Amino acid sequence: MRKQKIVILGAGYGGLMTATQLQKGMGMNEVEIQLVNKNDYHYETTWLHEASAGTLHHDRVRYNIRDVIDRNKVEFIQGTVVEIKTEDKKVILEEGELPYDYLVVSVGAESETFGIKGLKEYAFSIVNVDAARQIREHIEYQFATYNTEVEKKEERLTIVVGGAGFTGIEFLGELANRVPELCKEYDIDPLKVKIICVEAAPTVLPGFDPDLVNYAMAQLERKGVTFMIGTAVKEATETGIIVGKGEDEVEEIKAGTVVWAAGVRGNSIIEKSGFEAMRGRVKVQPDLRAPGHEDVFIIGDCSLVINEEINRPYPPTAQIAMQQGIVCARNLLALIRGKELEAFKADIKGTVCSLGEDDAIGVAFGKKMKGGTASFMKKMIDNRALLMIGGPSLVLKKGKFNLL
Ligand code: FAD
Ligand code: NAD
Repeated sequence: MRKQKIVILGAGYGGLMTATQLQKGMGMNEVEIQLVNKNDYHYETTWLHEASAGTLHHDRVRYNIRDVIDRNKVEFIQGTVVEIKTEDKKVILEEGELPYDYLVVSVGAESETFGIKGLKEYAFSIVNVDAARQIREHIEYQFATYNTEVEKKEERLTIVVGGAGFTGIEFLGELANRVPELCKEYDIDPLKVKIICVEAAPTVLPGFDPDLVNYAMAQLERKGVTFMIGTAVKEATETGIIVGKGEDEVEEIKAGTVVWAAGVRGNSIIEKSGFEAMRGRVKVQPDLRAPGHEDVFIIGDCSLVINEEINRPYPPTAQIAMQQGIVCARNLLALIRGKELEAFKADIKGTVCSLGEDDAIGVAFGKKMKGGTASFMKKMIDNRALLMIGGPSLVLKKGKFNLL
């Protein structure tokens, strides 16, 4: 009898967790598995703010996919997914076509621009390793250029961050540490540099613990960040950004760098392939399959799972993507073995938001924490993700050990 074939799209937290769990749980020759990813490396999306600010080298945030898969059980295919043809049970890649019996879609998120004019053209987003490298190099170029011009352009030294959600705040934390280094390197007076964060909601980190939010704001302000709260980004232009508090109070901020960190949506492949979705995220069945598609699992940032306690979707996180990967692997094996599928239940252990290398805020296991303790916890979480996917050898290779 022909072996059933599972194709996994995307080797991020969700996809790679599914693949490594499958290779542990499957019997030799029980099933054929193909893992498809755009690059031959996995990157820690949760560390990209560090690579973007330049506080961590981009090679530290990525590792070779072939190093963590069992090549006797999982075939890695480097390829870019264009579309999924569910009716023909095949995936269209830029490089060709792949038929499947069962499919796992875990191609992550894209930046959500809400149709705001100019963002796609003039703002950067922290979405992958290439984008992170571009942001780091762009900021460095602005600093390097400043003193070489006869007519100095102060706006080269202004960096605007749109959105004070977790991504915006974590990036600001790194940036606030990086800027003094850049000033030293390029002979620039630190007082000339402006780091401005524009947040539409009445607070930064909307919905998070107010005491911790106040601590985070105070720490970042102390390092030179200016917050414009209750102010929305309205447009990005070639020379900066237009913000406003309503229709009337509109202001232009001239800036050499604009980083848009105001939210994500599921990968556009989802909508292109005809799945019913909300902002690119498919409300999956409890067993993680797409409604109406018994052979397609959707996990990670492309999926939407409702938190029944508050009747609202869980925010898309690595924590959930990895937990889904474990259940997805078990359900795939159950399908192949003719067993019953289990329902996914998110187990939220907490949220920790870094404020640079040695500072953070968080709530974990029901406890509030800040400063060094929270920062230690954040590094442990980062190391745990490595451990779960690649075991102790990956932690030794890529882990964060500057724990104090
Ligand atoms: P990803 O891990 O993003 O992986 C998607 C994979 O698909 C990538 O390997 C990509 O290359 C590949 N891919 C994309 N398109 C294609 C294509 N067309 N063809 C082939 N391959 C493709 N969450 C937390 O829980 N804790 C945190 O501390 C945290 N910090 C974050 C910090 C930052 C700066 C950001 C941006 C996000 C953070 N998140 C955090 C959210 C978290 O990173 C995501 O929820 C998580 O990465 C989702 O996992 P995923 O598997 O769906 O996608
Ligand atoms: P987010 O949706 O969590 O935050 C976006 C922020 O941008 C919000 O505060 C929103 O009010 C603001 N905003 C929206 N439109 C705006 C506008 N026009 N002008 C100004 N501000 C605007 O998005 P995110 O921070 O990119 O996070 C994406 C996902 O990744 C979330 O689920 C988050 O929980 C997760 N994440 C987690 C961590 C962590 O756990 N440490 C870190 C980063 C990201």
